[in-house]
Amino acid sequence: MSKILTIGEILVEIVATESGNGFREAIPLIGPFPSGAPAIFIDQVGRLGQECAIISRVGDDDFGHVNLDRLKSDGVDISGIEIMPQGTTGSAFVRYRKDGSRAFVFNIRNSACGTIDLSPDALRLIDSCTHMHVMGSALYAPSIVTSILTAVERIKARGGTVSFDPNLRPEILDSPGMRDALKTVLAKTDLFMPSGEELFLFTDAKTEEVAVAELLAAGIRATVVKRGASGASYFDSQSSFTLPGFKVEEVDPTGAGDCFGAAFVTFWLAGAEPREALLHANACGARAVTKVGPMEGASTRAELEALIASQRKHA
Ligand code: ATP
Ligand code: MG
Repeated sequence: MSKILTIGEILVEIVATESGNGFREAIPLIGPFPSGAPAIFIDQVGRLGQECAIISRVGDDDFGHVNLDRLKSDGVDISGIEIMPQGTTGSAFVRYRKDGSRAFVFNIRNSACGTIDLSPDALRLIDSCTHMHVMGSALYAPSIVTSILTAVERIKARGGTVSFDPNLRPEILDSPGMRDALKTVLAKTDLFMPSGEELFLFTDAKTEEVAVAELLAAGIRATVVKRGASGASYFDSQSSFTLPGFKVEEVDPTGAGDCFGAAFVTFWLAGAEPREALLHANACGARAVTKVGPMEGASTRAELEALIASQRKHA
């Protein structure tokens, strides 16, 4: 049986209930919602019934327990989450502007998950996993980069596989050593899952065809490009195709890419045909945007099948 691992930030997200420009006045907020891209990803994997684990750190505070409780109840192995008695759980305040862009106030680097390091127990947990999912946003501190590269090496050395979602904010890309770390991960990647322009992060290619051909030549087995409401595309050496997005009402786009990736990796590891995996990933990303809160729209298998069946009928 496969077991999926990820390493990285666990946060709570607190969302402004009215759109506008940032946080320089008192405004109504809703939260805390469990969050952090790797945490959203692994929660969605767990909800699909796939065995999985996350290595991270939280404080012994309510924000930490909000996450521990959610991940545990969705079936995630939380033995790799260290609870730091003196630490504070990470947080992100988010407010949408009228144009749909987002203003953030982050507390990540100086929070408990800014100090992730591999204990002997964490190394044993890594060795119980067969697949590593790397979230680019998790590469925010040198010790975490080292931890992620260690997990990638150990899992690959035992015949396992690696998926990589660059999920990058520009300010992370320009931090020291980041491009090298990303290139090291890419060289070990089996399944690459960029969103839109991230496909061109590691190439001078001007077209998708050329960029994908370069990735295949570099040893990447499959590339999946996420396209928001328009759906997603799949590329490997045998085939390439695009599936449209499901028609849903978007209320909060945060977490769509993470839920999409979780469903794709879960179906791919189980040996599903690429079309089947992409269909379920599209359904999972679509359901994710229908709820306020990044993890609140995570889906069970039955919920994915229901969405797929309902839109087949209307197609
Ligand atoms: P994130 O903000 O979580 O990092 P992302 O940029 O990685 O997101 P998106 O392309 O925004 O990823 O979304 C991932 C997938 O979710 C899409 O490929 C699509 O399948 C689905 N999706 C996202 N937004 C919508 C929408 N409004 N309607 C239907 N499906 C959507
Ligand atoms: Mg993303």
